[in-house]
Amino acid sequence: MKFRHFAAALLSAVLLTGCGEPAQDQSDALFAADLFAMDTYMNLKAYGKNAEAAVREAEARITALEHTLSVTDSGSDLYALNHAAGGAVTVSDDTRNILDTAAKIGQESGGALCISLYPVLRAWGFTTGEYHVPADSTLAELLPLCDDSLIVRNGNTVTLPPETEIDLGAVAKGYTGDAVMEIYQQHGVTSGIISLGGNVQALGTKPDGSAWTVGVTDPFAPEQLLGTIAVTEKAVITSGNYERYFTGDDGQRYWHILDPETGKPAGNGLVSVTVIGDCGAECDALSTALFVEGTEEAVAHWRRTGGFEMILVTADGEVLLTDGIASGFQPKRDVQSRVIGHDEAG
Ligand code: ADP
Ligand code: MG
Repeated sequence: MKFRHFAAALLSAVLLTGCGEPAQDQSDALFAADLFAMDTYMNLKAYGKNAEAAVREAEARITALEHTLSVTDSGSDLYALNHAAGGAVTVSDDTRNILDTAAKIGQESGGALCISLYPVLRAWGFTTGEYHVPADSTLAELLPLCDDSLIVRNGNTVTLPPETEIDLGAVAKGYTGDAVMEIYQQHGVTSGIISLGGNVQALGTKPDGSAWTVGVTDPFAPEQLLGTIAVTEKAVITSGNYERYFTGDDGQRYWHILDPETGKPAGNGLVSVTVIGDCGAECDALSTALFVEGTEEAVAHWRRTGGFEMILVTADGEVLLTDGIASGFQPKRDVQSRVIGHDEAG
């Protein structure tokens, strides 16, 4: 997977050089930056006369958020929470906001999103890269600690049971995208697009007024696109079984999105979920939650709550598109697709 990130970084570096030429119209001038943060390659683009100041401030904000939300950095909110031995911890507004979003989507998904799975993620080696399949007895021991209803939130004061630990990996990049969009707006930028490890967030339209075109990775061939979608001012966030995984001695693929019911990689019929919506943090939380929920529950979830669009790719290769995004989707290869409507029959 490292290779794929490297290739993506090279690609964006090439694009950058191409796009970095001074634009004809000063008001449409592009400023772009690449950085590596939160364990992934990021690319920030903004247009207009304040673009550079906006991108520079966004870089600083990303670095600060990386520090706040890190599980390993001993000065972080998360480190304090995970090492508080049952004591109350005062967290930053950013951490509080993410915990609020995680609680909301956790509830809406019936616990499919579970930020307190950290001890189980560690047992699989997903926290260090030293992967191995844990014994069922280990999972059975750890799973009772993993229950987001054990997280007590009172404003910025948060308390966890002594053995419970959390990680915000499922929501952090989407929240960070929102933070960047906010900075862009504060600088008067009206056109910009960012990719945080493949999670895309777009502000406004392209400088020429047309919609942005965002690629959706083919989960069966992650170096290629399944298709593209046209969006204006939206977050486009994907969770897939191809993002981080290892192959066990048994030849099976084990990926980094776990089903809180079993403590094992979620395999409920989906190989990727792309969520399109207004709030990056919610879209990110949802992409993970819907992946865990699986095909039928994900569709039921969307029909129940609305507020976002989604593209589901099933393990047998079908592409399900909710009706608000279906017309904006352009396949890049032959796909068997189906449009999901709000009624059961749809
Ligand atoms: P990515 O970070 O690859 O874009 P996701 O947004 O889906 O993908 O987040 C996956 C990360 O979330 C995992 O690496 C892990 O840290 C954490 N995680 C895994 N399973 C769950 C789950 N069921 N609920 C909450 N967080 C999870
Ligand atoms: Mg997510």
